[in-house]
Amino acid sequence: MKSKMYDAIRVGGGPAGRFGACFVKALGGEPLIIENSNLGGQCPKNRCAFENFIWEQASMAEMMRLFSGKSWYPNIDLSNISQWKAVEMYNNVGQKCADDAMDFQTEVQLKVDVVRGDGKIIDKNTVETNGKVYKGKALVISTGSRPTIPNIPGTSLPGVMTYVEHAEMRKDPKRLVVIGGGNVGIGKAGMFRAFGTEVIVLEKYKVMAEWDAELREFALNLIKTKGIKIVEGVDVKEIKGNGRVECVVAEVNGERVEYPCDAVMLSVGLTPNSEVAKPLGVKIGDHNEIVIDEGCRTSVSGVYAAGDVGGPPFLQSVSRKRGMVAAKNVMGLDAKMDYSFLPAHVYLAPLEATMVGLTEEEARKRTEIITIKMPTGPKPKEEIPPTEFRPGFGGLGLPAYGRMLTLNCMYYGRNLHGYLKAVIDVKTRKYLGFHHIGEGAKGGFQYLGYLLKTGFTVDQMAELNEIFLNPEHFIQATRLVAGYKDIEGLSRLSRG
Ligand SMILES: Cc1cc2nc3c(=O)[nH]c(=O)nc-3n(C[C@H](O)[C@H](O)[C@H](O)COP(=O)(O)OP(=O)(O)OC[C@H]3O[C@@H](n4cnc5c(N)ncnc54)[C@H](O)[C@@H]3O)c2cc1C
Repeated sequence: MKSKMYDAIRVGGGPAGRFGACFVKALGGEPLIIENSNLGGQCPKNRCAFENFIWEQASMAEMMRLFSGKSWYPNIDLSNISQWKAVEMYNNVGQKCADDAMDFQTEVQLKVDVVRGDGKIIDKNTVETNGKVYKGKALVISTGSRPTIPNIPGTSLPGVMTYVEHAEMRKDPKRLVVIGGGNVGIGKAGMFRAFGTEVIVLEKYKVMAEWDAELREFALNLIKTKGIKIVEGVDVKEIKGNGRVECVVAEVNGERVEYPCDAVMLSVGLTPNSEVAKPLGVKIGDHNEIVIDEGCRTSVSGVYAAGDVGGPPFLQSVSRKRGMVAAKNVMGLDAKMDYSFLPAHVYLAPLEATMVGLTEEEARKRTEIITIKMPTGPKPKEEIPPTEFRPGFGGLGLPAYGRMLTLNCMYYGRNLHGYLKAVIDVKTRKYLGFHHIGEGAKGGFQYLGYLLKTGFTVDQMAELNEIFLNPEHFIQATRLVAGYKDIEGLSRLSRG
């Protein structure tokens, strides 16, 4: 019997593969997904969903610690908490929910064919799985990426982990060294710290370097008050231990320094899984990525690559969109990727930082700007740790609402109230960037990124309908001043 000819075979059913296949189906084509693990890829397994879940648990731990015995809150004993129990909860329930949802959406609702197994590419129209051959008019490689393992001795010692092993942990470490202070590394540091682990982050360059300077300062103060140590300009040389990790050896300012620990988190980036494509002779870049053009086409006609395997930016949204762009091109349309206005996000339990567009510093170099900032009360007193209960709003300019309002009521002036900044072009009244530390903003930032692209103005923002008086979506802060036709009026909320 002649085998079915698919319009596109997707090797890998993560965000890129799954969304791309569903898009082919929506455009009237017949896609096949070949997936060797779970539909949805690494996001629900050990990345986005897992990370968000653990941040949520870490935030709860932080808040219980902060509130215990204060105001109406009962005394809460946190001496015996463990992160691995939270990990176990995610593995037992969270991941299963995600798997069920992905399987149902893809196979039952959208009726996309899925084969479970390792896809071995034979040629650009043929993939073999479990001894069976599948044929497609086009091939889309969406095999994702894996953690980059630095080329130093000791990375295979027990106790050394990446985000993959984090999602499988069975014991809480006492002292953790995080190697790599990128968005993921900083997030991991906060998650472990909340559960009582001592944490040091070693970063080769500068942490949160691309962030708005004021937000970065706010974030670093917050991290410091939690007792997390960050060391910048560190060249890690070796991980040492006798049968198990015992310390990280590094060079700092020309000096050899040892950081004792019982666990290490490697968080130095991702390496695309392009090996599967090598038999096709597609062009591979310097960082193991499959080289793609704006339409996700590889150097071999009829072969596409989507998601992390095509190199950075390593984001779920980019992966899904690359999947969609490849799908459209497979189906004869002419689609292109647009990488502008991608939001960035860092977990800072119990808060989170989100940004999109230009920082204040970048914007000032290009044009005349003003900013809208909140809160506008006195600056946090960094030297006082967040242990003192000080109810009331004395001296408060504008409080941030949601979770920050509670934190604010309890700890105003202790760097827990959140921070908000919008950057605006004076002449055009268009927004250039949005920046936020707090909680609950990341949902809104997904839309704010798109609005920036459209040239959204303060006058248009003032026409939106807020459901609550929450400032994290910038409506309230803007509406207060949007009526002013002059810069002076607009900048009223900028004064600290
Ligand atoms: C810790 C962490 C947290 C993150 N959090 C976020 C976040 O909050 N938001 C965000 O936007 N991005 C986040 N990212 C990035 C995001 O997870 C990735 O960009 C996204 O998962 C990439 O999707 P993908 O489809 O390219 O690959 P993957 O999700 O890796 O899926 C690829 C799939 O292909 C399968 N596969 C590989 N080879 C084969 C083969 N030969 N045959 C069959 N199947 C195969 C794999 O098993 C896998 O299931 C995070 C990344 C990390 C490391």
